[in-house]
Amino acid sequence: MPAAPAKPVIYGETIDSLAARLQAEGQPAFRARQILDWLYKKRISAWEEMTNLPREFRTWLAGTFDLEPTAFVLDRQSGDETDKLLLALADQALIETVIIRAPMLGVGQEKSRKTICISTQVGCAMGCKFCASGLAGLKRHLSAGEIVHQLIQVCRIEDARTPRARAELASFDNIVVMGMGEPLHNYDATLRALTIVNAEWGLGFGARRITLSTSGLVPKILQLADEPLGLRLAISLHGATDEVREQIMPVNRRHPLAELLPAVRAFTEKHGRMVTLEFILIEEINDSLDQAERLRDIARDLHAHVNLIPYNTVEGLPWKRPSLTRQERFADILRAARVPVTLRREKGHDIAAACGQLRLQTERACEATPAGPESAGSPGPAHDQK
Ligand code: SAH
Ligand code: SF4
Repeated sequence: MPAAPAKPVIYGETIDSLAARLQAEGQPAFRARQILDWLYKKRISAWEEMTNLPREFRTWLAGTFDLEPTAFVLDRQSGDETDKLLLALADQALIETVIIRAPMLGVGQEKSRKTICISTQVGCAMGCKFCASGLAGLKRHLSAGEIVHQLIQVCRIEDARTPRARAELASFDNIVVMGMGEPLHNYDATLRALTIVNAEWGLGFGARRITLSTSGLVPKILQLADEPLGLRLAISLHGATDEVREQIMPVNRRHPLAELLPAVRAFTEKHGRMVTLEFILIEEINDSLDQAERLRDIARDLHAHVNLIPYNTVEGLPWKRPSLTRQERFADILRAARVPVTLRREKGHDIAAACGQLRLQTERACEATPAGPESAGSPGPAHDQK
């Protein structure tokens, strides 16, 4: 797998790693904090803007670190509610970051106003049969700096929308790690990025407002349970029996439910917080009442919240979402047992579900138009497909 770009991204540095690097250059210790202040509090986009640093030192920084690891390719807005950002990395790989300016139910934050969905990999190796991100496999992991920079891009968009809110750094309410990629497959970079996002010298964003979603890499869930960073956890279950789950999620062969569910319980017990079980409803695959009953039992047992997501059609894949009546019947079985359940209906809210599609469509358009993403024209209504 090709490595991330050679010049390290400054946004991937912690205060300690940066201080150590600067110390090796003979710089005073306070320089690290000065730089981080320019990055996260003042949100500059050029080294020359760091006006309290000596010119020579700024030149050294520019030659040593990458300051702009992602660039806007496309900003697809869905009304006033959703922005889907397509970002290009230094090697021209494409990733998606999504902003939703509306309540997002189902991640334990019922009153949230602004949610950001970030990616952790280019593509995904897990090969879930229904998912656009996994279709072409994994291209590469994102570095910690590339993950953090997605949020910097979001901050810039928000700054432009509401210039007066600029000083309020974390003007968004939730971050969901539900974009492209399996975050626990890129564990170290993801954890490092979220530590930077959380740190007082970084974005200062509360870990309890960050939800990480995984397809179920059991050893990594257990590792995550031991981290001091108290993230929220969501599990992509999508099947309430091994038979059904295995059909659509190859990871279930490696980590079947008998392994996954105890790991989720261990996480809940360590963190004392409700885990969310995500369950995409796919017609004739996992939408039977028997699946609903089994899901009800699992959720009750784990004291978990269930997030039902009507399947979001992906071009080239045969799956469909069930009728509204069938969705409601499925949800009713959970409701009757007082399992906390959310059935997403609103168009703009299931952004995570569509993550990967914009990239897929743009890459397909690029294959037909070799001049690159900018000239590929409209990549198609990724968001309107829901
Ligand atoms: N890899 C992680 C996080 C990214 S996927 C994971 O699988 O949890 C984020 C969520 O979107 C997952 O629950 C995933 O199953 C769901 N998803 C993927 N493709 C979808 C589709 N076409 N329709 C609805 N949900 C989808
Ligand atoms: Fe990867 Fe998640 Fe898509 Fe599965 S659902 S292929 S784990 S991004």
